[in-house]
Amino acid sequence: MSKHVETPVTPEAIVTAPKVLLHDHLDGGLRPGTVIDLAEANGYSDLPATDVDALGTWFRDAADSGSLVRYLETFAHTCGVMQDEAALVRVAAECAEDLAADGVVYAEVRYAPELFTERGMELDAIVEAVQAGFREGERRAAAAGRTIRIGTLLCAMRQNARSLEIAELAVRYRDAGVVGFDIAGPEAGFPPTRNLDAFEYLRQQNAHFTIHAGEAFGLPSIWEAIQHCGAERLGHGVRIVDDIKVSADGSVHLGRLASYVRDRRIPLEMCPSSNLQTGAATSIGEHPIGLLTSLRFRVTVNTDNRLMSGCSMSSEMAALVEAFDYGWSDLQWFTINAMKSAFIGFEERLAIINDVIKPGYAKLMGH
Ligand SMILES: [Zn+2]
Repeated sequence: MSKHVETPVTPEAIVTAPKVLLHDHLDGGLRPGTVIDLAEANGYSDLPATDVDALGTWFRDAADSGSLVRYLETFAHTCGVMQDEAALVRVAAECAEDLAADGVVYAEVRYAPELFTERGMELDAIVEAVQAGFREGERRAAAAGRTIRIGTLLCAMRQNARSLEIAELAVRYRDAGVVGFDIAGPEAGFPPTRNLDAFEYLRQQNAHFTIHAGEAFGLPSIWEAIQHCGAERLGHGVRIVDDIKVSADGSVHLGRLASYVRDRRIPLEMCPSSNLQTGAATSIGEHPIGLLTSLRFRVTVNTDNRLMSGCSMSSEMAALVEAFDYGWSDLQWFTINAMKSAFIGFEERLAIINDVIKPGYAKLMGH
C-alpha cells in the first residue's frame, strides 16, 4: 500500500488512533467480571446479577432510565465492591490496561475517595492504593507494547461536606500523580459555590480543578463554576448551548457566557453517550457537541462511565464519525484539544502532542 493512502475511518482503525481522555470515572469503568469477582471475595451480596453478560446489561439498562439520580444509583454496586486496598489496586490496574488496549495514550481518571471508606479505609490509603494500581496497569500495558500515562483527579461529592478535605488530599498527592480535583454528584440543589473554600484553597496552592457543571442543570451552574469557583475546565458543560441562538437562516448568536467560554478556550469535557442516558440529549446526531464543534469551542470527547454506557473512547469517536461524518483531522482536533487541556505540565503535554498524537494521525491520513 502506498504511504499516501488514507486509512478509512472505521471503528477498527479508530482503536489504533492515539486518543486522550479527560473525563472517566474509576467507579464507572469496572469490567463486569471484576465486579462479580470482587463481590464474591468481599462478601458483597447485593449484586442484581451474577452472570457476567447479564450484569453488564443490567448496568447499561439501569443507566438508561433517563434520570441522573437513577444513573448515580448504579454506583452503589461498583463502590460497594471497592472497599479494600486489593480491590482498588485491581480496578485501577485494569482501568489503565483497558484504556491502553483501546488506544488511549493519556487519560485523567477520577474518583471520590470518600466513597471507599465504608469499611474503614483511610483517605490516604485509598489514594495510595489507586496510584499503585494505575502504575501497575501502565506497566502491564507497556509489557503489551502500549504506552499510556494516567493522571488522577480526586472528586468531592456535592451532597457531602468534605470538599476542602479532599482538595487538601489532592494537593498532598500532587507529586505522586494526582493532577487535579473535581466535584461530582447531583447538580440540582448543590451549586458549586457550596464548595468555595475548597476552590479558594486550590487556587492558593496553584492546583488544578474542573467542575461537573451544565450536565443536568443549566447556565447558572456553568456560570458559578467558572466565575465564582474558577474552574479551568467544565465537566460536560453541554447546557452552554442554552446561551447560543441559531436562527432559521443559520446565523449564530452567542450570549456573553457562551462567548466567554469560547474566547477563553475553556475546555468542555463532553460525554455524548452518557448524556443520552441521563436525558441531556436525545441522540448523538442531536447532541450539542456537533454545534459546539462547528463553532470551535474547546471540545473534548470523553467516556464518563464506560461500564454504565457500554462505551469506550473508540466507540464514542466512532459514534461521532457516524453522526457527523467526521474524518481523521476532526478526531485529531478533539485529541489535541484534550491534550492541551490536560492538567499535567506544558512540556509533557507538548511532547505527547508532537511525538505521539500528530505522528499517529499523520500515518492514518497517509501523510
Ligand atoms: Zn462525570
